[in-house]
Amino acid sequence: MILDLKGVFEYEGFNRNVSYELDMSGFEDQSGGFPLKEPVIVNASLRNRAGVVGLHVETQSVYSTQCDRCCAPLNEQLSITFDNVLVRDAASEGDSGDLIKVEEDKFDLDEHVWTNVILNLPMKHLCSEACKGLCPKCGKNLNEGDCGCDNSDDSPFSVLKSLLQ
Ligand SMILES: [Zn+2]
Ligand SMILES: [Zn+2]
Repeated sequence: MILDLKGVFEYEGFNRNVSYELDMSGFEDQSGGFPLKEPVIVNASLRNRAGVVGLHVETQSVYSTQCDRCCAPLNEQLSITFDNVLVRDAASEGDSGDLIKVEEDKFDLDEHVWTNVILNLPMKHLCSEACKGLCPKCGKNLNEGDCGCDNSDDSPFSVLKSLLQ
Protein backbone atom coordinates (compact mmCIF):
# COMPACT_ATOMS: atom_id res chain seq x y z
CA MET A 1 0.00 0.00 0.00
CA ILE A 2 1.39 3.38 -1.04
CA LEU A 3 0.36 6.22 1.27
CA ASP A 4 -0.05 9.77 -0.01
CA LEU A 5 1.28 11.94 2.80
CA LYS A 6 0.57 15.38 1.38
CA GLY A 7 -2.34 16.01 3.75
CA VAL A 8 -0.47 14.65 6.75
CA PHE A 9 2.48 16.94 6.17
CA GLU A 10 0.37 20.03 5.55
CA TYR A 11 -2.24 19.90 8.31
CA GLU A 12 -1.28 19.98 11.97
CA GLY A 13 -3.45 17.67 14.01
CA PHE A 14 -4.04 15.36 11.05
CA ASN A 15 -4.79 11.76 12.05
CA ARG A 16 -5.09 8.82 9.75
CA ASN A 17 -5.44 5.14 10.58
CA VAL A 18 -4.82 2.35 8.13
CA SER A 19 -5.62 -1.32 8.73
CA TYR A 20 -5.03 -4.08 6.24
CA GLU A 21 -3.41 -7.44 5.72
CA LEU A 22 -0.08 -7.84 4.01
CA ASP A 23 0.80 -11.07 2.29
CA MET A 24 4.35 -12.01 3.32
CA SER A 25 4.06 -15.68 2.40
CA GLY A 26 6.78 -15.13 -0.23
CA PHE A 27 9.36 -14.31 2.43
CA GLU A 28 12.01 -17.04 2.52
CA ASP A 29 14.18 -17.44 5.59
CA GLN A 30 17.83 -18.54 5.70
CA SER A 31 16.94 -22.20 5.97
CA GLY A 32 14.81 -22.02 2.83
CA GLY A 33 11.49 -22.13 4.68
CA PHE A 34 8.53 -19.80 4.27
CA PRO A 35 7.63 -18.96 7.88
CA LEU A 36 4.97 -16.27 7.32
CA LYS A 37 2.25 -18.28 5.67
CA GLU A 38 -0.64 -16.38 7.23
CA PRO A 39 -1.28 -12.78 6.16
CA VAL A 40 0.33 -10.19 8.45
CA ILE A 41 -2.25 -7.93 10.12
CA VAL A 42 -1.11 -4.30 9.92
CA ASN A 43 -2.52 -1.44 11.99
CA ALA A 44 -0.81 1.85 11.21
CA SER A 45 -1.51 5.36 12.38
CA LEU A 46 -0.19 8.67 11.13
CA ARG A 47 -0.26 11.74 13.36
CA ASN A 48 0.84 15.27 12.69
CA ARG A 49 1.66 16.80 16.07
CA ALA A 50 2.93 20.38 15.86
CA GLY A 51 4.32 19.73 12.41
CA VAL A 52 6.07 16.46 13.31
CA VAL A 53 4.65 13.47 11.47
CA GLY A 54 4.79 10.27 13.48
CA LEU A 55 4.09 6.84 12.07
CA HIS A 56 3.14 4.11 14.50
CA VAL A 57 2.78 0.57 13.18
CA GLU A 58 1.62 -2.58 14.94
CA THR A 59 1.72 -5.94 13.22
CA GLN A 60 0.44 -9.34 14.19
CA SER A 61 1.56 -12.47 12.49
CA VAL A 62 1.94 -16.18 12.91
CA TYR A 63 5.50 -17.41 12.57
CA SER A 64 5.65 -21.05 11.48
CA THR A 65 8.92 -22.70 12.25
CA GLN A 66 10.33 -25.61 14.21
CA CYS A 67 12.01 -26.07 17.55
CA ASP A 68 15.79 -25.63 17.29
CA ARG A 69 16.38 -28.65 19.52
CA CYS A 70 13.67 -31.23 18.86
CA CYS A 71 12.37 -30.06 15.44
CA ALA A 72 8.74 -30.05 16.60
CA PRO A 73 6.62 -27.71 14.45
CA LEU A 74 5.88 -24.38 16.14
CA ASN A 75 3.42 -21.62 15.37
CA GLU A 76 4.43 -18.51 17.28
CA GLN A 77 2.19 -15.48 17.61
CA LEU A 78 4.33 -12.46 16.84
CA SER A 79 3.37 -8.91 17.71
CA ILE A 80 5.80 -6.28 16.50
CA THR A 81 5.51 -2.52 17.04
CA PHE A 82 7.65 0.18 15.48
CA ASP A 83 7.64 3.97 15.48
CA ASN A 84 9.21 6.39 13.07
CA VAL A 85 9.17 10.08 12.28
CA LEU A 86 8.57 10.96 8.64
CA VAL A 87 10.22 14.02 7.16
CA ARG A 88 9.93 15.74 3.83
CA ASP A 89 13.43 17.04 3.36
CA ALA A 90 16.96 15.99 4.09
CA ALA A 91 17.60 19.06 6.26
CA SER A 92 16.04 17.28 9.23
CA GLU A 93 18.20 14.21 8.79
CA GLY A 94 20.91 13.24 11.22
CA ASP A 95 18.88 13.69 14.41
CA SER A 96 17.81 10.15 14.90
CA GLY A 97 17.87 6.74 13.30
CA ASP A 98 14.08 6.69 13.44
CA LEU A 99 13.75 9.42 10.82
CA ILE A 100 12.58 8.42 7.37
CA LYS A 101 12.85 10.82 4.47
CA VAL A 102 9.81 10.66 2.21
CA GLU A 103 10.17 11.39 -1.50
CA GLU A 104 7.36 13.33 -3.18
CA ASP A 105 4.97 12.68 -0.28
CA LYS A 106 4.65 9.02 -1.25
CA PHE A 107 5.41 6.34 1.30
CA ASP A 108 5.52 2.62 0.63
CA LEU A 109 3.95 1.17 3.77
CA ASP A 110 4.21 -2.42 2.49
CA GLU A 111 7.97 -2.16 2.12
CA HIS A 112 8.28 -0.49 5.53
CA VAL A 113 6.27 -3.26 7.22
CA TRP A 114 8.08 -6.01 5.31
CA THR A 115 11.53 -4.71 6.33
CA ASN A 116 10.65 -4.14 9.98
CA VAL A 117 8.90 -7.47 10.45
CA ILE A 118 11.91 -9.33 9.07
CA LEU A 119 14.34 -7.31 11.21
CA ASN A 120 12.35 -8.23 14.32
CA LEU A 121 11.91 -11.93 13.72
CA PRO A 122 13.09 -14.06 16.64
CA MET A 123 16.39 -15.85 16.10
CA LYS A 124 15.78 -18.61 18.62
CA HIS A 125 12.86 -21.00 18.56
CA LEU A 126 12.20 -23.45 21.34
CA CYS A 127 9.01 -25.40 21.96
CA SER A 128 9.86 -24.82 25.63
CA GLU A 129 12.87 -23.58 27.57
CA ALA A 130 13.13 -27.05 29.08
CA CYS A 131 13.14 -28.85 25.72
CA LYS A 132 15.50 -31.82 25.94
CA GLY A 133 16.02 -32.07 22.19
CA LEU A 134 16.86 -35.20 20.23
CA CYS A 135 19.18 -37.97 21.26
CA PRO A 136 22.44 -37.45 19.35
CA LYS A 137 22.79 -41.21 18.94
CA CYS A 138 19.39 -42.58 18.00
CA GLY A 139 17.47 -39.37 17.17
CA LYS A 140 14.60 -40.05 19.56
CA ASN A 141 12.74 -37.02 20.90
CA LEU A 142 13.85 -37.00 24.54
CA ASN A 143 10.78 -34.98 25.58
CA GLU A 144 8.81 -38.15 24.96
CA GLY A 145 10.96 -40.20 27.29
CA ASP A 146 14.44 -41.61 27.68
CA CYS A 147 15.76 -43.75 24.83
CA GLY A 148 18.25 -45.72 26.90
CA CYS A 149 21.37 -44.58 25.00
CA ASP A 150 24.44 -43.70 27.01
CA ASN A 151 25.01 -40.02 26.29
CA SER A 152 27.15 -39.36 29.34
CA ASP A 153 30.49 -39.16 27.52
CA ASP A 154 30.39 -35.48 26.63
CA SER A 155 33.83 -34.74 28.06
CA PRO A 156 36.54 -33.26 25.76
CA PHE A 157 38.07 -36.74 25.61
CA SER A 158 35.08 -38.14 23.76
CA VAL A 159 35.85 -35.81 20.85
CA LEU A 160 39.43 -37.04 20.87
CA LYS A 161 38.23 -40.61 21.10
CA SER A 162 35.95 -40.19 18.10
CA LEU A 163 38.87 -38.74 16.10
CA LEU A 164 40.99 -41.77 16.89
CA GLN A 165 38.33 -44.27 15.90
ZN1 LIG B 1 11.71 -28.71 21.34
ZN1 LIG C 1 19.11 -42.49 21.98
